[in-house]
Amino acid sequence: MPIYEYTCNACNRLSSIFVRRVASAADPKCQHCGSADLRRAVSRIAVHKTEQQILEEYGTPQPGGGPDSYKDPRQIGRWVEQRFEQMGMELPSEARTMIDAAREGEFPAPVKDL
Ligand SMILES: [Zn+2]
Repeated sequence: MPIYEYTCNACNRLSSIFVRRVASAADPKCQHCGSADLRRAVSRIAVHKTEQQILEEYGTPQPGGGPDSYKDPRQIGRWVEQRFEQMGMELPSEARTMIDAAREGEFPAPVKDL
């Protein structure tokens, strides 16, 4: 599942766009102001993380699940949210987008391959 990032020329904010179909990539819209005037940004999302890198960054999944809970998209979203909560930080919009997509069953590519 490729993720493209665009910077909006109207409001200068970043939009992360999951490309579900080739056609949808042709018509990206700003997630903040709806402008179609976007330029491609260098992705800040590491979409090629290995499982080990993810574990190092986010820690192991919360109790309640075995190793397989890692593959559950709702579980992944939950512990990322909890981590940000513990740090007293707001979830970045990029992570929010990824979690919401994961909960719809759209795994980021490296997770799908686990
Ligand atoms: Zn915008």
